[in-house]
Parts: sequence; structure tokens; C-alpha cells
Amino acid sequence: RGDTQEPVIPFAQPGSRTRVYAVASGKGGVGKSSVTVNLAAALAAKGLKVGVVDADIYGHSVPRMLGADGRPTQVESMIMPPSAHGVKVISIGMFTPGNTAVVWRGPMLHRALQQFLADVYWGDLDVLLLDLPPGTGDVAISLAQLLPSAEILVVTTPQAAAAEVAERAGSIALQTHQRIVGVVENMSWLELPDGQRMEVFGSGGGAQVAESLSRLVGAPVPLLGQIPLDTRLREGGDAGVPLVLSDAAAPAAAALITVADRL
Ligand code: ADP
Repeated sequence: RGDTQEPVIPFAQPGSRTRVYAVASGKGGVGKSSVTVNLAAALAAKGLKVGVVDADIYGHSVPRMLGADGRPTQVESMIMPPSAHGVKVISIGMFTPGNTAVVWRGPMLHRALQQFLADVYWGDLDVLLLDLPPGTGDVAISLAQLLPSAEILVVTTPQAAAAEVAERAGSIALQTHQRIVGVVENMSWLELPDGQRMEVFGSGGGAQVAESLSRLVGAPVPLLGQIPLDTRLREGGDAGVPLVLSDAAAPAAAALITVADRL
């Protein structure tokens, strides 16, 4: 292909059978990356071919959470992504020297995302998940331009303030005409030893986001699941073994697997 031509994104071609989900949140720290890697691992465990693009320039924690410590390699003009637990993964963090925080400008991010979608050898994927940076930023707009068929999955906590910013992140789909596949509420409660549920971050945020996005887009946006707090979910992320693989029966894992089944 000529240098002046736009790179070809296979997922954007007519007839592409790959479902692409962009995982979005209003703010950081709500568990967007944790949800992304557990959904990816759960889908791969079902036998699907899965890829993850870590486009969260502020976090880029996906490779670690998946235990993908390999480096991308180059074969001719293609980038071969490392994989772990049957999930191919590429991260913006794999291309920044050391672990330095890089100030990325909109056009650079657009180019990076374009390269991840066009120049990475993904093979014939069933599902591609993208971990977006929090907020309604440049990356979401770039993605909509590069891949209008990508569907949005919104992650929020039960907290009202978090829900409001999550709504704003989801409402970008109105401008970009993308489909919102649903809402995942994370950190919904902590189960105490006596079986009681302690609602650490309040309640209702997920349902609130689902309702207001339904109203906004004029189509039903389901609340796909509520994921409880579980220290093992965090530990699994630190160790690179998603909880859905290490203990699928744990309530947090079971809830995530249900979300994966509903995608
Ligand atoms: P984000 O991608 O939204 O910034 P992360 O996935 O990095 O959020 O999660 C933030 C922190 O919270 C991480 O340390 C993660 O391990 C932890 N965490 C996320 N979800 C849960 C949960 N359901 N239970 C316990 N810890 C969680």
C-alpha cells in the first residue's frame, strides 16, 4: 500500500465478523481495566479468539493484569502481539521507553490507535476489547472515526458522582452514533463474614447510568452485571491471573462471566 493511503483496519471492513467493544468509564479507578481483562479471559476460556487493545494512556495496566510480559515483535510490516491466557494484547505502555509518563497529544493518540488496529497481526478474532482512557477524551472520538461499529461498554461504581461522569462518557455514543452494549457496575458491595452486604460505595449507580443512557439513546441499555468487591480480584490483577480463571465460582468472577455471556 502507498504511504499516502490510510492504513486498512480489518475490523472496519464490510463483512468483518469481529465484535469490537470499547470499555469506557467516566473516571479512573472504577475497575475498567480489571473488568476488561476478566471479560477477555472469560471469553477466551469459552473458546473464543480474543484480543485486547490497552489504549488507556494513563493506566496501561492491562498487560500486567493479564500476565502478558512478552514484548511485541515485528514481522515485516506487522506487529505481533504477545499473548497470555489465550488473549492477544497490545498496549501503549509497550511502546513508551521505560515507564515514563508520556504527554500524548490527540494526533499521536489517533496514530497509535490506528496502528494498533491496522498494523498489529490480530488474526481472525471473535472479539476485540479496547480499554479506553477514562473520560470523554480524544481516544473515544478517534475510535469512533476509525471503527464506527465498535460498541461501548460503560463501567461505573454504585456511587452517584461516579455514575454522573459515566453517563457523560456513555453519552459520547450519541454524537458518534455508536451502540452502547450495556453497563457494568463494579465494586457494588463487600460481602461480610456474616453474609451481609456492605455497600461501601453506596448503591444504584449502575442502574442509574443504564436508565439515563436508555433515555438518551432511545433504546434499552441493560445493566449487564454487578461485580462485588473481592480482594482476590485485585490480587489476581497484581499476579497476572484473572479471577475468572483462578476461581470462576467466586461471586465476583461469576458475575463477570455472566457479563461475558451477555455480550
Ligand atoms: P481503572 O481501569 O478504572 O482505573 P482498575 O481496574 O485499575 O481501574 O482498578 C483500580 C483498582 O481497584 C485496582 O487496584 C484493582 O485491582 C482494584 N479493583 C477493581 N475492581 C475491584 C473489585 N471488584 N474488587 C476489588 N478490587 C478491585
